[in-house]
Amino acid sequence: MDDLRPDSPPPLSAALTARIREALRALDAVLVAHYYVDGAVQDLADATGGCVGDSLEMARFGRDHPARTLVVAGVRFMGETAKILSPDKRVLMPAVEATCSLDLGCPIDRFDAFCNQHPDRVVVVYANTSAAVKARADWVATSSTGLDIVRHLHAQGKKILWAPDIHLGQYLQEQTGADMLLWNASCIVHDEFKAAELEAMRKEHPRAKVLVHPESPAAVVAQADVVGSTTQLLRAAEALGAPEYIVATDNGILHKMRQAQPDKVFFEAPTAGRGATCKSCAHCPWMAMNEVDRLADTLDAAVRGDRSQEIDVDRQLAARALVPIERMLAFAAARKAAGTSAPAPFLQAGSQGMGPA
Ligand code: SF4
Repeated sequence: MDDLRPDSPPPLSAALTARIREALRALDAVLVAHYYVDGAVQDLADATGGCVGDSLEMARFGRDHPARTLVVAGVRFMGETAKILSPDKRVLMPAVEATCSLDLGCPIDRFDAFCNQHPDRVVVVYANTSAAVKARADWVATSSTGLDIVRHLHAQGKKILWAPDIHLGQYLQEQTGADMLLWNASCIVHDEFKAAELEAMRKEHPRAKVLVHPESPAAVVAQADVVGSTTQLLRAAEALGAPEYIVATDNGILHKMRQAQPDKVFFEAPTAGRGATCKSCAHCPWMAMNEVDRLADTLDAAVRGDRSQEIDVDRQLAARALVPIERMLAFAAARKAAGTSAPAPFLQAGSQGMGPA
């Protein structure tokens, strides 16, 4: 399916922008947005000194920023992670009820029982999980850090229990050869990308490079020129120099891709929704809850003292969940300092244009 969304969101009214800026100032707040939310919210984050990033960058930015309030435009686990990393800051979300199919697919009681059945394995969980699941883990990983962390554990001879995304788990297993026991959940957005239709689209656009997030099914990943996290795919689109790209991740990312390279053409990878309703378009329904009006209302209500859009995490639970999150952050920082991290996206065999990660 070709892109159905406008190249850029309609400009916000000056009055709405001023209202949001004033509320952020009154709350001593900074806006931290994910690449998958509305382009207008991403632009506001950029314009007000906030951050637009993947979940790893959001976590780091929120932790390190001096503001007393973090406004997290994303889904609930991102707000929880912000609160866990910054327990003394106030964390607000435009949509506190925005969840994630991976989080929903990994309830703590079942997950805890699964871990208890396999005490010989190191438990590594994706960031897209509840605070309780993180608290049960040895490591947290994001799509930026997962490959390095699994490779590191495999080199130490460790066996791994991975949850919850099965496609990402299979990808990490295949790339590293690690002994991984996989939980079975998936992202409702990436799971929809269709290999046969992607193959047809590649034939229609032979000059296009294919960028794929590893939450996608293996048959889609197998057709990628580049596999990586959202940030890694953005960098790849800038580095590859191709005139066209087919992008298999949430279509919210296209906003930044087009801003960075307005002369290039970006197509959404095909989903089951081809020619049908937009219900199965590549856009997360929970990320879509982060609308600008809702953001403005949340901030105004918070200025008036309303706490209904605030994220709280039990202090003891947060302290336990902090351990595997900090382990990941320290690992990523050490890798970066040593110049041994793999910030570049993974390049599929046979692709051209970039060196291997
Ligand atoms: S895009 Fe997928 S992984 Fe991301 S929040 Fe939505 S359901 Fe979860």
